[in-house]
Amino acid sequence: LSKTIDVLKGACVPYLVLGKGSNLLVADDLPEMVAISLKRASVEAESTEAGGRVQVRAGAGTALSKLMRMCLNQGLTGLEFLVGIPGSLGGAVMMNAGTKHGKISDVLEHVTMMTEKGEVRITRMNIKFSYRKTHLPVEGVVWDATLHAEKEEKKIVRKRMLDILRERKIRQPEPTRTAGSVFKNPPGDYAGRLIEQAGLKGKVLGGAKISEKHANWIVTTHGAKASDVYGLLKLVQNTVEDKLGIKLEPEIKLIGFE
Ligand SMILES: Cc1cc2nc3c(=O)[nH]c(=O)nc-3n(C[C@H](O)[C@H](O)[C@H](O)COP(=O)(O)OP(=O)(O)OC[C@H]3O[C@@H](n4cnc5c(N)ncnc54)[C@H](O)[C@@H]3O)c2cc1C
Repeated sequence: LSKTIDVLKGACVPYLVLGKGSNLLVADDLPEMVAISLKRASVEAESTEAGGRVQVRAGAGTALSKLMRMCLNQGLTGLEFLVGIPGSLGGAVMMNAGTKHGKISDVLEHVTMMTEKGEVRITRMNIKFSYRKTHLPVEGVVWDATLHAEKEEKKIVRKRMLDILRERKIRQPEPTRTAGSVFKNPPGDYAGRLIEQAGLKGKVLGGAKISEKHANWIVTTHGAKASDVYGLLKLVQNTVEDKLGIKLEPEIKLIGFE
């Protein structure tokens, strides 16, 4: 992987690191580029315990759902906030993924990065975090991540996860082709509330629609184009800014649009 990055960088070939793609909007006419996926790279999730503290280490390609199953089976608490997020650990690290129940920056201890110069271990004191963004001091591919957790009775971990899943089900649209929340919440407010106030709930453009259930979600029907979603995103951004004076910033990653 390190050599691949070196070759790509040396030849100025653009590359995209893919997690599970759950936070990406990729242009219909994306110019050719290399995609790096760690889906099949095997760093098995494992936990180690020392002095009551538990460290959970897993490969970046590990699905969060798999990590949640491990926490449930081993009675580990502290990571339940990730339950129901359809990404990989690498994507969650890069996005500082989370909910009101917690976020990656609360639990990340260190990451191993693959760079063109080889493997680099980065501890949390050298990582900066902001809302839905992790700023790593080197460029490359997250290879694995270590999070901290605590021991807990399995039935308590299970209840916490089920409560969060239930809450998500009530709040979020039915599973459909979507990238979840489109915009970051501006300080002190909610993007969904502003979009609704701007009168855009239910707005349709081609195969894309502002969800009736949660206005910060764009849902799509079969055959929708990325350009439909992008057009709707721009419409929301412009309308909310014109009507309410707030510029919403996309949370989803736009690949090949700007
Ligand atoms: C239904 C639904 C619900 C969601 N709910 C939530 C939620 O509650 N909270 C939340 O925070 N997010 C949520 N999301 C958004 C998304 O799931 C998260 O941002 C998730 O962490 C992205 O993980 P991914 O593996 O899919 O990353 P991708 O979408 O594949 O990538 C995201 C970014 O991370 C980079 N990246 C991925 N893997 C690596 C790696 N190994 N090394 C370097 N860079 C990498 C990519 O290049 C890209 O820039 C939701 C999305 C959907 C579709």
